[in-house]
Amino acid sequence: MFSNTVAVSAQREYDADKIAYIIANHFVSLGIGASLFEGKKVVIKPNLVMKKSPDAAATTHPAMLEGLLKVLNGFGVKPTIAESPGGVYSAARLDGVYRGCGIDKPSEKYGAVLNYDVDAERVDFDGELVKSFNIIKPIADADVIIDICRLKSHSLTTMSAAVKNLFGTVPGIEKFEAHAAYPDYADFNRMLCDLCLMHCTKKSVIAITDAIVCMEGNGPTAGSPKEIGYILTSKNPFASDLLAERIIGFEGKVPSVEISRRRGLCPQSADELEILGDIPQTAENFAQPDTSGGGSVKALTFFSRGKIGRLFMPKPYATSDCRACGECVRSCPKKTITLQNGKARINVSNCIRCFCCQELCPFKAIKIKRNFITRLVGNIK
Ligand code: SF4
Ligand code: SF4
Repeated sequence: MFSNTVAVSAQREYDADKIAYIIANHFVSLGIGASLFEGKKVVIKPNLVMKKSPDAAATTHPAMLEGLLKVLNGFGVKPTIAESPGGVYSAARLDGVYRGCGIDKPSEKYGAVLNYDVDAERVDFDGELVKSFNIIKPIADADVIIDICRLKSHSLTTMSAAVKNLFGTVPGIEKFEAHAAYPDYADFNRMLCDLCLMHCTKKSVIAITDAIVCMEGNGPTAGSPKEIGYILTSKNPFASDLLAERIIGFEGKVPSVEISRRRGLCPQSADELEILGDIPQTAENFAQPDTSGGGSVKALTFFSRGKIGRLFMPKPYATSDCRACGECVRSCPKKTITLQNGKARINVSNCIRCFCCQELCPFKAIKIKRNFITRLVGNIK
């Protein structure tokens, strides 16, 4: 059912013309042509998790978007760009994120429509875990979704790429509710796979992964940029992520990829992929988030289950960099953070370790404390 082909090109700089050339070639080699777009509603889903400079490596780089828009322009396509960032889903927040991430200018240049419609629509799907999702309206209405993500480490899901990026099709604070509904680490990742599979079943999905400069460490927003130097394109987000986990040296450590393997959504190994173009090298010493510490999917899943396991889970805490802005208080699905004496305080007894607080803190003030036991088993394979 799903393609096992991924087009890959080495690319080390954010040059929109060179990126357009690469994406155009990827489309040709993957058989993506005018017929896919003719008379269709085309929606680009970037990764704009929060208002961040492109240099922070947390969001889709504007040059990637410009390159893609240039290619679509050649097909006569004027797409909509739609994203539900972290936090409240409002037109004002969307505007701030579009401008703050620098995607307003390329959109204007190529006549793309920035979405400000904050309606959503429930879509039924017979998933392994989830039977329906509430989806932002432009994505629910789309015929073609172009999922253009930045490759990053991720405190909760270990890696964020094409599959995780589609979690941003769930509106605003309903994402926090999903964290509360699926506190179990494995279930949250099963939900992500169901969501991506739903889109792939109902629409044409093209996954483009920006791995020119990735984020390592405490991604998706509190890590550090790391130059890797690739662009990946595939008609199968699961296959693209299988290769992405190898590129950053996370093979066997990304739960959503493990689930994709088990469910037959991608091959068992990246060796079985058909790679068109450059064969990517695996990066050395790509830092994992503090939450994983090198642990395998098995170890992480064990520690996310049951009362005893949770006792040993890594714990978030606010450092002296906290400026009491209250963003984490508003983002916490368990309402377990309060502001006291000018600083965020986390009551960890009610914490489900979703790490939304770390993801959405604008000042990188949330750190993760791991105890002796989890450090010890961190390297269980
Ligand atoms: S920890 Fe971060 S998000 Fe929370 S109040 Fe402090 S600065 Fe704001
Ligand atoms: S304190 Fe942070 S990690 Fe814990 S439930 Fe709240 S947002 Fe999630």
